[in-house]
Amino acid sequence: MKVICEECNWRGQQDQLLTAINPFDSDDDINGCPQCKSINTALFACEETDCWEPVTCGFPTAVGYRQTCGKHVPGRAAPTPSPGWTSDEPRVAPTPSPGWTSDDTVWGKDGRLSPQGDE
Ligand SMILES: [Zn+2]
Ligand SMILES: [Zn+2]
Repeated sequence: MKVICEECNWRGQQDQLLTAINPFDSDDDINGCPQCKSINTALFACEETDCWEPVTCGFPTAVGYRQTCGKHVPGRAAPTPSPGWTSDEPRVAPTPSPGWTSDDTVWGKDGRLSPQGDE
């Protein structure tokens, strides 16, 4: 499995990581970056050849369990712009419509309308 260091962007293989027993918990292992010596900063990298994005998804496939970045999830690959695709198509949340002000109530993450400042 490929790994990358969050701290210094070192790229390598999982078995190149420094490993040690956690001095505070002997049941636990810690790993260190061979380049910057940061502890537990290694992230698994996408299994796709030549892709070094951090893994964000894991899924079973015909050839076994795979972990990739968001771009390389089968069936969710970023579409290459087709001839009919225009950059005007909304890809993200639309900008607030006129009349919306930041003093209005805001939508909570769970979709419920919650008054702003209610904490
Ligand atoms: Zn590092
Ligand atoms: Zn990838």
